Amino acid sequence: MKIAVFGTRKYDQDSLKAANRDGFVQFTFIEALLDQRTAILAADHEGICIFVNDICNAAVIEQLSALGVRFIALRCAGFNNVDLEAAAKLDILVARVPAYSPEAVAEFTVGMMMTVVRKYHKAYNRVREGNFLLDGLLGFNLHGKTIGIIGTGKIGLLTGRILAKGFNSNVIAYDPYPSPLAEEYGLKYVSELDELLKKSDVISLHCPLMDSTKYIINDDSIAKMKKGVVLINTSRGGLIDTYALIRALKTGHVLAVGLDVYERESSYFFADSSAKVIADDTFARLLSFYNVFMTGHQAFLTEEALTNIADTTLKNLHDMKETGTCACIVKAS
Ligand code: NAD
Repeated sequence: MKIAVFGTRKYDQDSLKAANRDGFVQFTFIEALLDQRTAILAADHEGICIFVNDICNAAVIEQLSALGVRFIALRCAGFNNVDLEAAAKLDILVARVPAYSPEAVAEFTVGMMMTVVRKYHKAYNRVREGNFLLDGLLGFNLHGKTIGIIGTGKIGLLTGRILAKGFNSNVIAYDPYPSPLAEEYGLKYVSELDELLKKSDVISLHCPLMDSTKYIINDDSIAKMKKGVVLINTSRGGLIDTYALIRALKTGHVLAVGLDVYERESSYFFADSSAKVIADDTFARLLSFYNVFMTGHQAFLTEEALTNIADTTLKNLHDMKETGTCACIVKAS
Protein backbone atom coordinates (compact mmCIF):
# COMPACT_ATOMS: atom_id res chain seq x y z
CA MET A 1 0.00 0.00 0.00
CA LYS A 2 1.70 3.21 -1.15
CA ILE A 3 1.15 6.23 1.10
CA ALA A 4 2.44 9.76 0.50
CA VAL A 5 3.25 11.36 3.85
CA PHE A 6 3.09 15.15 3.63
CA GLY A 7 4.75 17.67 5.94
CA THR A 8 7.16 15.13 7.39
CA ARG A 9 10.01 15.86 9.78
CA LYS A 10 12.61 13.31 10.80
CA TYR A 11 10.72 12.39 13.99
CA ASP A 12 7.62 11.49 11.92
CA GLN A 13 9.66 9.31 9.59
CA ASP A 14 11.41 7.49 12.44
CA SER A 15 8.18 6.69 14.29
CA LEU A 16 6.22 5.64 11.17
CA LYS A 17 9.09 3.41 9.97
CA ALA A 18 9.32 1.80 13.42
CA ALA A 19 5.56 1.13 13.50
CA ASN A 20 5.55 -0.39 9.99
CA ARG A 21 6.92 -3.68 11.34
CA ASP A 22 5.38 -5.94 8.70
CA GLY A 23 6.15 -3.59 5.80
CA PHE A 24 2.45 -3.40 4.93
CA VAL A 25 2.86 0.24 3.89
CA GLN A 26 5.36 1.73 1.47
CA PHE A 27 5.85 5.33 2.60
CA THR A 28 6.95 8.24 0.44
CA PHE A 29 8.09 10.97 2.82
CA ILE A 30 7.50 14.49 1.53
CA GLU A 31 8.69 17.56 3.42
CA ALA A 32 6.24 19.98 1.78
CA LEU A 33 2.80 20.55 3.24
CA LEU A 34 -0.17 19.34 1.22
CA ASP A 35 -1.94 22.05 -0.76
CA GLN A 36 -3.13 22.62 -4.32
CA ARG A 37 0.44 22.96 -5.61
CA THR A 38 1.84 19.85 -3.91
CA ALA A 39 -1.14 17.48 -4.23
CA ILE A 40 0.36 16.15 -7.49
CA LEU A 41 3.07 14.47 -5.40
CA ALA A 42 0.41 11.97 -4.33
CA ALA A 43 0.23 10.56 -7.87
CA ASP A 44 0.62 6.79 -7.89
CA HIS A 45 -0.31 6.52 -4.18
CA GLU A 46 -3.44 4.90 -2.73
CA GLY A 47 -3.47 7.16 0.24
CA ILE A 48 -1.99 10.19 1.92
CA CYS A 49 -0.98 10.91 5.49
CA ILE A 50 -1.25 14.51 6.75
CA PHE A 51 -0.97 16.64 9.89
CA VAL A 52 -2.58 19.76 11.32
CA ASN A 53 -1.38 22.39 8.85
CA ASP A 54 -1.79 20.51 5.58
CA ILE A 55 -4.54 22.02 3.43
CA CYS A 56 -7.09 19.42 2.44
CA ASN A 57 -9.99 21.48 1.15
CA ALA A 58 -12.49 20.50 -1.57
CA ALA A 59 -10.17 21.58 -4.42
CA VAL A 60 -7.28 19.51 -3.04
CA ILE A 61 -9.55 16.52 -2.44
CA GLU A 62 -10.78 16.66 -6.05
CA GLN A 63 -7.15 16.64 -7.23
CA LEU A 64 -6.32 13.73 -4.94
CA SER A 65 -9.33 11.76 -6.14
CA ALA A 66 -8.36 12.31 -9.78
CA LEU A 67 -4.90 10.93 -8.91
CA GLY A 68 -6.49 7.77 -7.48
CA VAL A 69 -6.14 8.53 -3.76
CA ARG A 70 -8.72 6.61 -1.68
CA PHE A 71 -7.53 7.07 1.89
CA ILE A 72 -6.59 10.07 4.03
CA ALA A 73 -4.88 9.21 7.30
CA LEU A 74 -4.60 12.16 9.67
CA ARG A 75 -1.77 11.71 12.12
CA CYS A 76 -3.51 14.03 14.58
CA ALA A 77 -6.82 14.31 16.44
CA GLY A 78 -8.22 17.53 14.91
CA PHE A 79 -9.73 17.31 11.42
CA ASN A 80 -10.76 20.94 10.85
CA ASN A 81 -8.37 21.14 7.86
CA VAL A 82 -10.16 18.39 5.89
CA ASP A 83 -13.34 19.00 3.89
CA LEU A 84 -15.17 15.86 5.00
CA GLU A 85 -18.16 16.43 2.72
CA ALA A 86 -15.93 16.68 -0.33
CA ALA A 87 -14.15 13.49 0.73
CA ALA A 88 -17.45 11.62 1.25
CA LYS A 89 -18.74 12.73 -2.18
CA LEU A 90 -15.66 11.23 -3.81
CA ASP A 91 -15.66 8.04 -1.69
CA ILE A 92 -12.40 8.91 0.03
CA LEU A 93 -12.13 7.49 3.55
CA VAL A 94 -10.74 9.77 6.26
CA ALA A 95 -9.33 8.51 9.56
CA ARG A 96 -7.63 10.27 12.47
CA VAL A 97 -5.78 9.48 15.68
CA PRO A 98 -8.36 10.47 18.29
CA ALA A 99 -6.13 10.19 21.37
CA TYR A 100 -2.42 9.68 21.07
CA SER A 101 -1.44 11.16 24.38
CA PRO A 102 -3.78 13.64 26.02
CA GLU A 103 -1.32 13.50 28.94
CA ALA A 104 1.41 14.99 26.71
CA VAL A 105 -0.74 18.04 25.89
CA ALA A 106 -2.16 18.41 29.41
CA GLU A 107 1.31 18.30 31.01
CA PHE A 108 2.63 20.80 28.47
CA THR A 109 -0.34 23.10 29.12
CA VAL A 110 0.33 23.19 32.85
CA GLY A 111 4.04 23.76 32.17
CA MET A 112 3.13 26.64 29.89
CA MET A 113 0.83 28.06 32.56
CA MET A 114 3.65 27.92 35.14
CA THR A 115 6.08 29.47 32.66
CA VAL A 116 3.81 32.41 31.96
CA VAL A 117 2.69 32.94 35.55
CA ARG A 118 6.15 32.53 37.13
CA LYS A 119 8.14 33.90 34.15
CA TYR A 120 10.56 30.98 33.73
CA HIS A 121 11.35 32.10 30.18
CA LYS A 122 12.46 35.54 31.26
CA ALA A 123 14.46 34.17 34.19
CA TYR A 124 16.24 31.67 31.92
CA ASN A 125 17.49 34.40 29.59
CA ARG A 126 18.35 36.75 32.41
CA VAL A 127 20.43 34.24 34.38
CA ARG A 128 22.35 33.15 31.28
CA GLU A 129 23.44 36.76 30.84
CA GLY A 130 24.62 36.96 34.45
CA ASN A 131 21.67 39.09 35.62
CA PHE A 132 20.33 37.70 38.88
CA LEU A 133 17.93 40.54 39.69
CA LEU A 134 14.41 39.41 40.55
CA ASP A 135 12.69 42.67 39.59
CA GLY A 136 10.04 42.03 36.95
CA LEU A 137 9.76 38.33 37.79
CA LEU A 138 6.91 38.60 40.30
CA GLY A 139 4.32 35.86 39.80
CA PHE A 140 1.31 34.50 41.68
CA ASN A 141 0.40 31.13 43.22
CA LEU A 142 -1.85 28.76 41.28
CA HIS A 143 -2.87 27.32 44.65
CA GLY A 144 -6.33 28.64 45.46
CA LYS A 145 -6.71 30.50 42.16
CA THR A 146 -9.73 29.92 39.93
CA ILE A 147 -8.71 28.25 36.69
CA GLY A 148 -11.30 28.02 33.90
CA ILE A 149 -11.13 25.09 31.49
CA ILE A 150 -13.06 25.58 28.25
CA GLY A 151 -13.72 22.12 26.80
CA THR A 152 -13.53 19.06 29.02
CA GLY A 153 -12.67 16.34 26.54
CA LYS A 154 -9.61 14.18 27.04
CA ILE A 155 -7.07 17.02 27.33
CA GLY A 156 -9.19 19.54 29.24
CA LEU A 157 -10.12 16.95 31.87
CA LEU A 158 -6.51 15.89 32.45
CA THR A 159 -5.32 19.51 32.59
CA GLY A 160 -8.02 20.25 35.14
CA ARG A 161 -7.09 17.17 37.17
CA ILE A 162 -3.42 18.19 37.42
CA LEU A 163 -4.43 21.67 38.57
CA ALA A 164 -7.13 20.56 41.01
CA LYS A 165 -5.29 17.61 42.55
CA GLY A 166 -1.70 18.86 42.22
CA PHE A 167 -2.03 22.58 42.88
CA ASN A 168 -5.27 22.67 44.85
CA SER A 169 -6.60 25.26 42.42
CA ASN A 170 -10.33 25.91 42.16
CA VAL A 171 -10.92 24.42 38.70
CA ILE A 172 -14.15 25.41 36.97
CA ALA A 173 -15.14 24.20 33.53
CA TYR A 174 -17.52 24.84 30.67
CA ASP A 175 -18.52 22.28 28.03
CA PRO A 176 -21.89 21.88 26.28
CA TYR A 177 -21.40 18.12 26.79
CA PRO A 178 -20.28 17.69 30.42
CA SER A 179 -18.16 14.66 31.28
CA PRO A 180 -19.14 12.22 34.03
CA LEU A 181 -15.43 12.10 35.03
CA ALA A 182 -15.19 15.80 35.85
CA GLU A 183 -16.28 15.58 39.47
CA GLU A 184 -13.88 12.74 40.29
CA TYR A 185 -11.07 14.76 38.64
CA GLY A 186 -11.87 17.81 40.77
CA LEU A 187 -13.51 20.03 38.11
CA LYS A 188 -16.74 21.91 38.80
CA TYR A 189 -18.97 22.83 35.87
CA VAL A 190 -20.50 26.25 35.42
CA SER A 191 -23.63 26.33 33.29
CA GLU A 192 -22.69 29.36 31.16
CA LEU A 193 -19.41 30.25 29.49
CA ASP A 194 -19.86 33.84 30.72
CA GLU A 195 -19.66 32.67 34.33
CA LEU A 196 -16.32 30.98 33.65
CA LEU A 197 -15.04 34.10 31.87
CA LYS A 198 -16.06 36.31 34.81
CA LYS A 199 -14.67 34.13 37.61
CA SER A 200 -11.37 32.78 36.25
CA ASP A 201 -7.88 34.07 37.07
CA VAL A 202 -6.44 31.82 34.37
CA ILE A 203 -8.33 30.46 31.34
CA SER A 204 -7.15 27.47 29.32
CA LEU A 205 -8.68 26.51 25.96
CA HIS A 206 -9.32 22.84 25.16
CA CYS A 207 -12.28 22.80 22.76
CA PRO A 208 -11.87 21.90 19.08
CA LEU A 209 -11.92 24.50 16.32
CA MET A 210 -15.33 24.44 14.63
CA ASP A 211 -17.61 27.11 13.16
CA SER A 212 -19.23 27.42 16.59
CA THR A 213 -15.92 27.88 18.45
CA LYS A 214 -14.02 30.07 15.96
CA TYR A 215 -12.95 33.25 17.81
CA ILE A 216 -14.59 32.07 21.03
CA ILE A 217 -12.05 34.48 22.54
CA ASN A 218 -12.90 37.87 21.05
CA ASP A 219 -13.40 41.51 22.15
CA ASP A 220 -16.73 40.68 23.83
CA SER A 221 -15.56 37.59 25.70
CA ILE A 222 -12.33 39.30 26.81
CA ALA A 223 -14.37 42.23 28.15
CA LYS A 224 -16.21 39.76 30.43
CA MET A 225 -12.93 38.41 31.89
CA LYS A 226 -11.25 39.71 35.04
CA LYS A 227 -8.71 42.46 34.47
CA GLY A 228 -5.32 40.74 34.73
CA VAL A 229 -6.50 37.37 33.42
CA VAL A 230 -3.93 34.92 32.03
CA LEU A 231 -4.83 33.01 28.85
CA ILE A 232 -3.41 29.69 27.67
CA ASN A 233 -4.15 28.14 24.28
CA THR A 234 -2.73 24.74 23.38
CA SER A 235 -5.77 23.81 21.27
CA ARG A 236 -6.14 25.61 17.92
CA GLY A 237 -5.12 29.14 16.95
CA GLY A 238 -8.49 29.98 15.38
CA LEU A 239 -10.16 29.90 18.81
CA ILE A 240 -8.66 33.34 19.48
CA ASP A 241 -9.26 36.53 17.50
CA THR A 242 -5.63 37.65 17.55
CA TYR A 243 -6.48 41.33 16.92
CA ALA A 244 -8.74 41.31 19.99
CA LEU A 245 -6.00 39.64 22.04
CA ILE A 246 -3.45 42.24 20.96
CA ARG A 247 -5.84 45.05 21.93
CA ALA A 248 -6.33 43.46 25.36
CA LEU A 249 -2.57 42.98 25.85
CA LYS A 250 -2.02 46.65 25.03
CA THR A 251 -4.55 47.82 27.64
CA GLY A 252 -3.30 45.29 30.21
CA HIS A 253 -6.73 43.66 30.50
CA VAL A 254 -4.95 40.40 29.65
CA LEU A 255 -1.89 40.11 31.89
CA ALA A 256 -0.04 37.38 30.03
CA VAL A 257 -0.57 34.72 27.41
CA GLY A 258 0.83 31.27 26.63
CA LEU A 259 0.23 30.07 23.07
CA ASP A 260 1.26 26.82 21.42
CA VAL A 261 -0.89 27.62 18.39
CA TYR A 262 -1.63 30.64 16.21
CA GLU A 263 -4.48 31.14 13.74
CA ARG A 264 -2.18 31.50 10.70
CA GLU A 265 0.61 29.28 12.01
CA SER A 266 0.92 27.19 8.83
CA SER A 267 3.15 29.80 7.15
CA TYR A 268 5.80 29.48 9.87
CA PHE A 269 5.35 26.50 12.17
CA PHE A 270 7.14 23.16 11.73
CA ALA A 271 9.87 24.85 9.66
CA ASP A 272 13.02 26.86 10.36
CA SER A 273 11.86 30.38 9.59
CA SER A 274 14.79 32.05 11.41
CA ALA A 275 16.24 33.51 8.19
CA LYS A 276 12.85 34.76 7.00
CA VAL A 277 11.31 38.17 7.61
CA ILE A 278 7.93 37.64 9.27
CA ALA A 279 5.46 39.10 6.77
CA ASP A 280 2.45 38.55 9.03
CA ASP A 281 2.42 41.79 11.05
CA THR A 282 -0.13 40.45 13.53
CA PHE A 283 2.08 37.47 14.32
CA ALA A 284 5.15 39.73 14.61
CA ARG A 285 3.28 42.06 16.99
CA LEU A 286 2.18 39.12 19.11
CA LEU A 287 5.75 37.84 19.35
CA SER A 288 6.98 41.29 20.37
CA PHE A 289 5.07 41.40 23.70
CA TYR A 290 7.25 40.67 26.73
CA ASN A 291 4.30 38.89 28.36
CA VAL A 292 3.47 36.53 25.46
CA PHE A 293 5.17 33.14 25.57
CA MET A 294 4.83 31.17 22.36
CA THR A 295 5.84 27.69 21.23
CA GLY A 296 5.45 26.18 17.77
CA HIS A 297 2.65 23.61 18.18
CA GLN A 298 4.82 21.43 20.35
CA ALA A 299 2.44 20.30 23.07
CA PHE A 300 1.96 16.82 21.58
CA LEU A 301 5.64 16.13 21.04
CA THR A 302 6.62 13.31 23.37
CA GLU A 303 8.08 9.89 22.57
CA GLU A 304 4.91 8.24 23.84
CA ALA A 305 2.67 10.40 21.63
CA LEU A 306 4.74 9.80 18.48
CA THR A 307 4.67 6.04 19.03
CA ASN A 308 0.89 6.08 19.55
CA ILE A 309 0.33 8.31 16.49
CA ALA A 310 2.39 5.98 14.28
CA ASP A 311 0.78 2.77 15.62
CA THR A 312 -2.77 4.10 15.21
CA THR A 313 -2.03 5.53 11.75
CA LEU A 314 -0.68 2.15 10.58
CA LYS A 315 -3.72 0.36 12.01
CA ASN A 316 -6.10 2.87 10.38
CA LEU A 317 -4.44 2.39 6.98
CA HIS A 318 -4.40 -1.39 7.33
CA ASP A 319 -8.07 -1.58 8.38
CA MET A 320 -9.32 0.91 5.76
CA LYS A 321 -7.57 -1.01 3.01
CA GLU A 322 -8.63 -4.48 4.21
CA THR A 323 -12.18 -3.77 5.46
CA GLY A 324 -13.21 -0.44 3.92
CA THR A 325 -13.48 1.21 7.34
CA CYS A 326 -11.67 1.52 10.69
CA ALA A 327 -12.38 2.40 14.32
CA CYS A 328 -11.09 5.96 13.87
CA ILE A 329 -13.02 6.95 10.77
CA VAL A 330 -14.27 10.58 10.62
CA LYS A 331 -17.37 11.50 8.68
CA ALA A 332 -19.17 14.72 7.85
CA SER A 333 -21.90 15.28 10.44
P1 NAD B 1 -11.95 16.07 22.69
O1 NAD B 1 -12.72 15.89 21.43
O2 NAD B 1 -11.71 14.90 23.58
O3 NAD B 1 -12.63 17.22 23.58
C1 NAD B 1 -13.10 18.43 23.09
C2 NAD B 1 -14.19 18.90 24.04
O4 NAD B 1 -14.56 20.23 23.65
C3 NAD B 1 -15.46 18.05 24.01
O5 NAD B 1 -15.78 17.62 25.32
C4 NAD B 1 -16.52 18.99 23.45
O6 NAD B 1 -17.81 18.75 23.98
C5 NAD B 1 -15.96 20.33 23.90
N1 NAD B 1 -16.56 21.47 23.20
C6 NAD B 1 -17.10 21.52 21.96
N2 NAD B 1 -17.59 22.75 21.73
C7 NAD B 1 -17.37 23.49 22.85
C8 NAD B 1 -17.65 24.81 23.23
N3 NAD B 1 -18.30 25.66 22.42
N4 NAD B 1 -17.28 25.23 24.46
C9 NAD B 1 -16.64 24.39 25.30
N5 NAD B 1 -16.34 23.11 25.00
C10 NAD B 1 -16.70 22.67 23.80
O7 NAD B 1 -10.57 16.73 22.24
P2 NAD B 1 -9.16 16.66 23.01
O8 NAD B 1 -8.45 15.41 22.60
O9 NAD B 1 -9.33 16.97 24.43
O10 NAD B 1 -8.39 17.86 22.27
C11 NAD B 1 -8.79 19.21 22.42
C12 NAD B 1 -8.14 20.03 21.33
O11 NAD B 1 -6.73 20.07 21.58
C13 NAD B 1 -8.24 19.38 19.93
O12 NAD B 1 -9.41 19.79 19.29
C14 NAD B 1 -7.03 19.91 19.23
O13 NAD B 1 -7.42 21.07 18.53
C15 NAD B 1 -6.08 20.31 20.35
N6 NAD B 1 -4.81 19.55 20.35
C16 NAD B 1 -3.65 20.27 20.34
C17 NAD B 1 -2.44 19.61 20.36
C18 NAD B 1 -1.12 20.36 20.37
O14 NAD B 1 -0.07 19.76 20.14
N7 NAD B 1 -1.12 21.64 20.66
C19 NAD B 1 -2.42 18.20 20.37
C20 NAD B 1 -3.63 17.51 20.39
C21 NAD B 1 -4.84 18.19 20.38
